[in-house]
Amino acid sequence: MINETTYRQRRWHLAHLMGSGIAVIPTAPERPRNRDSHYPYRYDSYFHYLTGFGEPEAVLVVVAGKHPRSYLFCREKHPDREIWDGFRYGPAAAREAFGFERAFPIAKLDAMLPKLLENQENLFFHLGADGEWDARAVGWLNKVREQVRSGITAPTAIRDVRVLLDEMRLIKDGGEIAVMQRAADISCAAHIRAMRRTAPGVFEHEVEAELLHEFRRHGAQAPAYTSIVAGGANACTLHYVGNDAPLRDGDLLLIDAGCEVDGYAADITRTFPVNGRFSPAQRDVYQLVLAAQEAAIAEITIGKCWDDPHQAALKVLAQGFIDLKLCRGSLDEVLEEGHYKRFYMHRTGHWLGRDVHDVGDYKRDRKWRALEPGMTLTVEPGCYIRPADDVPGHLWHIGIRIEDDVVVTYTGCDVLTAKAPKGVAEIEELLTDKEK
Ligand code: ZN
Ligand code: MG
Repeated sequence: MINETTYRQRRWHLAHLMGSGIAVIPTAPERPRNRDSHYPYRYDSYFHYLTGFGEPEAVLVVVAGKHPRSYLFCREKHPDREIWDGFRYGPAAAREAFGFERAFPIAKLDAMLPKLLENQENLFFHLGADGEWDARAVGWLNKVREQVRSGITAPTAIRDVRVLLDEMRLIKDGGEIAVMQRAADISCAAHIRAMRRTAPGVFEHEVEAELLHEFRRHGAQAPAYTSIVAGGANACTLHYVGNDAPLRDGDLLLIDAGCEVDGYAADITRTFPVNGRFSPAQRDVYQLVLAAQEAAIAEITIGKCWDDPHQAALKVLAQGFIDLKLCRGSLDEVLEEGHYKRFYMHRTGHWLGRDVHDVGDYKRDRKWRALEPGMTLTVEPGCYIRPADDVPGHLWHIGIRIEDDVVVTYTGCDVLTAKAPKGVAEIEELLTDKEK
């Protein structure tokens, strides 16, 4: 859905933002898991955003100026290795397929970079992100500096290329939103499947397996992050990923899971009763979190700023905590003194895109930034009640989060993950009528 022209436009746009100089953007390395086996390969988000090229051992070089050019350095064709590890484009075919001005074998990178950097003022680079790449960049620069006596100048500034790319990536275009919608749809189907397979006695990992099955069955390449399948009290551990306990009758199950499609993430949380019916206490807390989420989503529109949805959710939650006797004092006191943090300790969302916690500043000039069409974010209020003497016993161990993925539009917002049920009646119906 995102074609070669789009990638070319992005590289052109980057060159324009750079003004002058050279950007060097490597993809991610393959990472060993143990001995000679590797983690499944995942390219670097910046590199892939600009190229669409998914092979490891590749570097993009963008030369800014009147006539911007993009060069790809990649692995050469290797008939023997391809028998073992699969297809490689090689420079010639990659140049053709991905629309680079030129392409070279990756082995030539260190020899060619100093030449390309001659008489350039700026090197745009992800300095500090990776020690080995930092050392290589210093090596290229020193090579250029060695030639000063022949009248060649070396770049005097190393600038962080991510600052430019983060702003580009923050605003999603139609093609990107279409991919994100697909990731959201598959993830919704996975949550529904997980709900149907949940019952007392089933293990968390069995439910996780249902999620993974649905992700891969529809062609999602991987989970976008490690799925959280947390029954009962486990839901009060925010990053619980053990996923190995049996589900108990009368407990809730919190699932935070989303897949990655063509490099874009979905991030959904649903919480529902293992036996199909909310208890009165669970229902009270659930309705509160749902109301907070609805209040937050209502704030997502042009003219609002990043923090508005969070503040709206906080207000609803804080009042609810007072009503449930979790917090004491007036609404203003609970908000100002932060008493609510005992039960709601995270923010209401984050940018979403190629990375599940996507790039982009949340503030500009020290002010929360304004929402713009094409920004995509999560809305995920929650409530996590750990046992304590001053906490009503019937609420102990209740952990609830409801998370949707939302894109800002010209007229308000779209909830990409609306297909995953979250109303109490909807959830109970789905859980008790598993044939549906
Ligand atoms: Zn999230
Ligand atoms: Mg999440």
